[in-house]
Amino acid sequence: MRVTMLGSGTSTGVPVIGCTCSVCTSDNPRNKRWRAGLRLELERGVALVDTPTDFRAQALRYGVHRVDAVLFTHAHADHVFGLDDLRIFNFRQRTAIRCYASAPTLAMLRRYFAYAFEDGQEGGGKPMLDLVEVREPFDLLGRRIVPVPVWHGELEVYGYRLGDFAYVTDCSRIPEESFRLLEGVRTLVLGALRYRPHPTHFTVEEAIQAAARIGAERTFLTHLTHDIDHDAPAVPLPPGVGFGYDGLTLEVD
Ligand SMILES: [Zn+2]
Ligand SMILES: [Zn+2]
Ligand SMILES: [Zn+2]
Repeated sequence: MRVTMLGSGTSTGVPVIGCTCSVCTSDNPRNKRWRAGLRLELERGVALVDTPTDFRAQALRYGVHRVDAVLFTHAHADHVFGLDDLRIFNFRQRTAIRCYASAPTLAMLRRYFAYAFEDGQEGGGKPMLDLVEVREPFDLLGRRIVPVPVWHGELEVYGYRLGDFAYVTDCSRIPEESFRLLEGVRTLVLGALRYRPHPTHFTVEEAIQAAARIGAERTFLTHLTHDIDHDAPAVPLPPGVGFGYDGLTLEVD
């Protein structure tokens, strides 16, 4: 399986509109961060994790030519507001796209994108989505997918595990049962917002602690703000832990 980080940024993206800080004005492409999401290229098809606000630009830059399914972590704006651009894949593939999520996330998608689930709208042109509620492990495109519930402040969101790989973003606490679901993960992408504490996201140091407990061989931090200069970490990153970046690709089992 090949994983592409379509975006590694927090909800504002980096650069932040109008910001003149050293990261936002940096020439380093690794300090330019679209909103967080992944492409998973599996033997039998392509799945996305989330449809970030920047999805159209991400699809063009990283050559997303097909989408067979979407795994949603939660329905915050930065993770879902690229959803309408799934239409292109409906048109080209001539089929609806299966969208997997928790019941509360699906309920929010139905509200935010009500037009997609109602009759009407002259000319059509709406995304065609099959919403599938998941809580337990399920099979998709020949792979076993394990939802990993974690806390994002008071909101329960999903990470997802596929084999040796796991993606856990927008997280401030991992419950014991979910640490168990992550046992044996070898490649981890984990959300870490910034250095200063935040009520609904891990700091870099909290993410490092969680990563140490999970014990993956390599961990990439994602969902980063403009406080993070890719090439100049303000705290030491232990061996095997690094900042993710847009376009990072990983080959995993
Ligand atoms: Zn987010
Ligand atoms: Zn800035
Ligand atoms: Zn969120």
